[in-house]
Amino acid sequence: MRTPFLAGNWKMHKTIDEAVAFANAVKGPLAEIEGVDKAVCASFVALPALSDVLADSEVMVGAQNMYWEEAGAYTGEVSPLMLKGVADLVIIGHSERRQYFGETDETVNKKLKAALAHGIKPIVAVGESLEQNEAGETESWVSGQVRAAFDGISAEQARGIVVAYEPIWAIGTGRAATPEQANQIIGEVVRATLAKLYGEDVAEDMVIQYGGSCKPSNIRELMSQPEIDGGLVGGASLDPESFIELVRGTAEVMEGMEE
Ligand code: PEP
Repeated sequence: MRTPFLAGNWKMHKTIDEAVAFANAVKGPLAEIEGVDKAVCASFVALPALSDVLADSEVMVGAQNMYWEEAGAYTGEVSPLMLKGVADLVIIGHSERRQYFGETDETVNKKLKAALAHGIKPIVAVGESLEQNEAGETESWVSGQVRAAFDGISAEQARGIVVAYEPIWAIGTGRAATPEQANQIIGEVVRATLAKLYGEDVAEDMVIQYGGSCKPSNIRELMSQPEIDGGLVGGASLDPESFIELVRGTAEVMEGMEE
């Protein structure tokens, strides 16, 4: 059985002090919740302090982006070598990076390969816009993004990659996909595409999160769906109590499924 994975994406929120206060508030309560992998993805500047505070906990620390080269004349960029030791994982291809910062399928693929080469676990984000959704293009768009992201990546490497299906129209809008919609796209499009690339066994082992207006009030419904293996959560991950509640909700649903 796949272990569900709840990751907070703080986007451009929290100073270093605020990040440390959050980590101190959640690490005790989260240590008591088993059966769910947990992570917070913070701004680059908060990563060293955050990884210090969370070093003795099971909460992983993630970056929200990364360049693919190790070093060079790339002003403003952060390399995989720089992340080593302060980040366990990295979000690649978030729709906000694709929309505002020129991220393409090609750069996503390069960054994924660089993260794997440096032992940083990637969460690769895919998802369609509202226009694509309404035009019935979700399936072809999302499966195309998955194929492009995984181009040249082996089955063994693929097992270590987390995919986040995040319909753009659900991100930060308060309007989550219905649990059934999210389950269908994750199962019939994302996992099915991975199965075509790597075989059923590999695809069945891969963790696929849902992202888009996850909150404590809908997390149980979402996590009750068999194909949804956790969440990538923006707004509702900023408050410690809300984040703990998201992890608790996920754990409770998993316990219920095991019984
Ligand atoms: C995200 O940042 O990936 C996200 C899903 O945001 P929100 O939960 O705020 O919709």
